[in-house]
Amino acid sequence: MSTITHELDRIAITVKSHMLLRQLLKENPTLEEIMRNARNETEALIGVRNWVLDKIKKNEDAHNFYKRETHGRVAFEKLTWKDFAAIRILDYIDNAGREFEDQNLRGEIAKSNPIQLIWLAVTHGTGGAKPYFFKDMLMLFRQFTGVYKRNIPPQEKVEEWMDRWCSGLDPRIIKLREENRERILKIIISKIDKGEISDTKFYFSTGISQEQKYLKTLDWWDDRLFHLHFAVRSPDLLNELLDNSLDPDTMKILYKAEAKGIPFFVNPYYLSLLHVRVPYFAIGADLAIRHYVIYSQQLVDEYGNIVAWEKEDKVKPGEPNAAGWYLPNEHNIHRRYPEVAILIPDTMGRACGGLCASCQRMYDFQRGNLNFNLDKLKPRKTWDEKLETLLDYFENDSQLRDILITGGDALMSSDKSLEKILDKIYRMAANKVEANKKKPIGEKYAHFLRIRLGSRLPVYLPQ
Ligand code: SF4
Repeated sequence: MSTITHELDRIAITVKSHMLLRQLLKENPTLEEIMRNARNETEALIGVRNWVLDKIKKNEDAHNFYKRETHGRVAFEKLTWKDFAAIRILDYIDNAGREFEDQNLRGEIAKSNPIQLIWLAVTHGTGGAKPYFFKDMLMLFRQFTGVYKRNIPPQEKVEEWMDRWCSGLDPRIIKLREENRERILKIIISKIDKGEISDTKFYFSTGISQEQKYLKTLDWWDDRLFHLHFAVRSPDLLNELLDNSLDPDTMKILYKAEAKGIPFFVNPYYLSLLHVRVPYFAIGADLAIRHYVIYSQQLVDEYGNIVAWEKEDKVKPGEPNAAGWYLPNEHNIHRRYPEVAILIPDTMGRACGGLCASCQRMYDFQRGNLNFNLDKLKPRKTWDEKLETLLDYFENDSQLRDILITGGDALMSSDKSLEKILDKIYRMAANKVEANKKKPIGEKYAHFLRIRLGSRLPVYLPQ
């Protein structure tokens, strides 16, 4: 809902924006009247504010919530769908003119003032607002007037949507995946034979037949380490294992991704879920899986300038982070909320079973902090000591109740590393309970209720 602070009154809106604006005014005669009578944007803001306030005052719960006289879950649950829209409009007006660094625009300053944009569009045909903006306003005012109702789909509808795609338990999909596995394994065998790839754990004894090699690789398939050791790290191999089925445009994007330094890490098992022969029943059935590993042009364009939305990349020791929390260091703890903090161990858990194109930690891949250099990700010597300091942070915080161990991927850590972390967390949580017994009522700290492991391995590497 923001726009860059250029001289907005000069930037004409497009024909499409005009058409959406006309629809907005047609559906909301009061809004049109306010806009046409306002001599400047301030009058427009006041007019819309009074109109919306009049409506919201009819519902005391919503009005009190808006004025922050009530808060919390119970008060929130009394709000209607229309109230949400009213509060959103009032919030825009209360914050009109505030400027923000727009992370989508690489830090350019953006000003929030939607009502001004509508007024400029109505009065001068300017303001530069894009069609999406008017579409958003159209929906917002439909919600406000009650035309657009909240539509929570029933369970049957959700199941109907899900049934459009075959599941991995469908025998036809299982067969396709087996074909994929066979193709991938035969290519790997041929590459090992030619000496193009080699591994100290997975190799063939001399003199065994092709069939024996194939049977051996079928055994390897059930070993997670095989998939990590033979993960694809280049577009060419990716395409080869996919039977050269990627189209030239996609390959161009992948080459650009490689040139820009975006890591590739797709393990053979995950690759076997992508269809190269697509019978009618399987059309689109692998898209949700495929989009995780086939990078888009937009990602390639942004890579190098990706910033963390919650500004986790801008943590400085001794200064509060974007959410206002002090953290012991820049990398190992992330915190947005009072009750939860994320723990990122300095272990193999900084890697993942694959790199997701949609990863919100892409900024950290960009900086090389998370990577797939598996040999270098073994816990450092100083990790045990560091873990103690990090857990002191959890122990000495009065509000934390939940630790989310992630990475990377928490389950990439070895069992030994993970066991050590969990044991220490358990002891820290128990210490906290003990310490609380000595604290007077009113000064006791929150206890830990949950330890969560963030992992995508059941999908990437169920082995
Ligand atoms: S598994 Fe999680 S941390 Fe790893 S790449 Fe995917 S989204 Fe990112």
